[in-house]
Amino acid sequence: MNGEWGKHCGLFGVYGHPEAANVTYLGLYALQHRGQESAGIVSCHTQALHSYRNMGLVSEIFTRDVLRGLPGKSAIGHVRYSTTGTSDVKNAQPFMVHYARGGLAVAHNGNLTNAYLLRNELEERGSIFQSTMDTEIIVHLIALSNERDLAGRIVRALKQVEGAYCLVFLSEEELIAVRDPHGFRPLVLGRQKNAYFVASETCAFDLIGAEFEREIEPGEMVVINEGGLTSLFPFAPAKPSHCVFEFIYFARPDSFIFGQNVYGVRRKLGAQLAREQPAEADIVVPTPDSGFSAAIGYGHEAKMPIELGLIRNHYVGRTFIEPRQSIRHFGVKIKLNPVKEIIKGKGVAVIDDSIVRATTSRKIMKMIRRVGAERIHVRISSPPITHPCFFGIDTPVKSELIASSHTIEEINRYITSDTLGYLSLEGLKRCVGDANSSFCYGCFTGGYPIKFPSRMEEFQLRPCEER
Ligand code: AMP
Repeated sequence: MNGEWGKHCGLFGVYGHPEAANVTYLGLYALQHRGQESAGIVSCHTQALHSYRNMGLVSEIFTRDVLRGLPGKSAIGHVRYSTTGTSDVKNAQPFMVHYARGGLAVAHNGNLTNAYLLRNELEERGSIFQSTMDTEIIVHLIALSNERDLAGRIVRALKQVEGAYCLVFLSEEELIAVRDPHGFRPLVLGRQKNAYFVASETCAFDLIGAEFEREIEPGEMVVINEGGLTSLFPFAPAKPSHCVFEFIYFARPDSFIFGQNVYGVRRKLGAQLAREQPAEADIVVPTPDSGFSAAIGYGHEAKMPIELGLIRNHYVGRTFIEPRQSIRHFGVKIKLNPVKEIIKGKGVAVIDDSIVRATTSRKIMKMIRRVGAERIHVRISSPPITHPCFFGIDTPVKSELIASSHTIEEINRYITSDTLGYLSLEGLKRCVGDANSSFCYGCFTGGYPIKFPSRMEEFQLRPCEER
């Protein structure tokens, strides 16, 4: 299920398509799961950039009239999700500026771990920031660079930043896409006739009918302009550290990222979970939608029927009025409802991809018990999340992660299930095929691939109001 926290993003870019803004709109539509709070598109037409950003869903923001105001053959787009104090249209992306060398727009997926330090340095040198986004730091660094061309200025800027970044830049002449040397977040390249596309996930290409060419490599910079596509590797190579949570929860099951189809991996996670954590149950019930793929793997492996015992309402907007006392548990009930006829009198293995604060599972347990489940066995297709992510999946602080301070048995008691079982780290590694240790498991182990200052304030930008 979708929690109410996080800061994730989705990127899309197109060069050389007669309807650049329209296909970007569709690409963002397919990437909506990566961010629901704000969205934006910047297009380029006759040497001028045109931008529109707003709060809300892609389908709400981009009306026919708005899209008509975004002419040109190249465009980039972004979807963002944030529930922190920085939820503001000035933090919506793509971020666009006009500086000494012309117009420049950038969209970012990731998180810079030395952002706070860089921003302080820049402010001391006189930079004035318009937003609280770490992305803006990159733009300032680019503006300060003396390199001759944009690609050179971007390289110079990125050599100063640390952390996770997939970036798509648009200038009046070119589109440039970059993936950080660790390759934390996915970024893929597509083609359709003479047009090039980049996106966070391949599901965006499927919708617009573009062919998936290949993944953009960790540390690769792709420059697309009148002359075609140039690939550069301007950074010192680093150990690949793909975010394993993209496979577990974040990416769409129909996407192909990090060399594999996401659904296929999730199914394997479910099957491995069934081997490691069998349950004496009559049926397997997925938590919609996040538990679907793993539940299919679990049910097949355990030879147990998979039943839709929980139904999700997909049409819940982000704003609704919650009655105070009259209807209890309204928040979760508006999204999920159990099917009494399926659950009553049964032993149920409830499958979800992860437990974060454990609020979702606790509420689901109450719901399922109320309709008469006999026994409830919760099975989670990832290991306990014990540490926050600093590379683009903005998990709550450590103290709010239930597994950081509670044993599995304590969590089991808290959520009121009969038994609780998680997938092991070894099992997870086996399922993603990580023979070369090329994934980041920081949220499960606290072993982060990049060193950063230990005090949180030092690497997280605070909103301007608080500074
Ligand atoms: P919680 O209720 O805090 O334990 O959250 C667990 C639920 O949130 C599970 O159903 C997950 O599928 C979902 N979830 C896991 N990671 C995230 C994330 N980064 N953003 C939003 N939801 C998430």
